[in-house]
Amino acid sequence: MSKFKWIKDRSDVNNQSTFDEVAAELLDALKSFDENFDLKDIEAREEETDRSSCKGFLDTDDGTAKTNERRLCKCLYFTNTENKVKTKCDGCALKDRQSEGYHAKVIGNFKVIYYEFVPTNKGNGIGNVDLILADENFAYLTEVKPPREENPETLLRMLLEIETYYRVTVKGKQYEKVVGDKPLRKAILFFKDSPQYKVYCDSACGVNTKELLKKFGITVFCAEFTGTEVLIKAIG
Ligand SMILES: [Zn+2]
Repeated sequence: MSKFKWIKDRSDVNNQSTFDEVAAELLDALKSFDENFDLKDIEAREEETDRSSCKGFLDTDDGTAKTNERRLCKCLYFTNTENKVKTKCDGCALKDRQSEGYHAKVIGNFKVIYYEFVPTNKGNGIGNVDLILADENFAYLTEVKPPREENPETLLRMLLEIETYYRVTVKGKQYEKVVGDKPLRKAILFFKDSPQYKVYCDSACGVNTKELLKKFGITVFCAEFTGTEVLIKAIG
């Protein structure tokens, strides 16, 4: 199995101080990625996600709404898809939390076109891509972090996840339907003033990550609240 994938799942990927070591190993693994990861065994997997409504599950134990990037992306999708039926959001427990990103109307040049995109049938640590954004020219496979997290993941972890998913993405029915003929790019999205945003903008600790993101051709999106709307901008 791919060495690359193991790097993504290494526990120290979330520790800023191990950045240089991990980055060096990552670049090494990348060189031999196609040999390590047997792409010919990969087939498109049909999606399993229920896309009939937003729902917004409540945690059955304490009645609070679950708020993670999967919920966030689902809410953004149902609020912003053009063919959305209004009642699809009725059951969502996060309906009134636009100021935290849930059910916010997306403004700017980028549209939300899909969520929980299944890149491949390969299991073992390959999850779904959080969100697909698109502008006139490109579709963007996007790894998303919510504005607030108890244990925020690092930019390096986001980079490794999206780079991995991009590399194992295969064309199938889902791909055709969502991406079509648009060239596919990879991207990460964080919110303004989030832990990831602060690191990215910090001249001391953000510089290595910025360089690495550039090297991998990863678009960086920053989402910013403007009242109950959210403006998505490409900042790198
Ligand atoms: Zn929702």
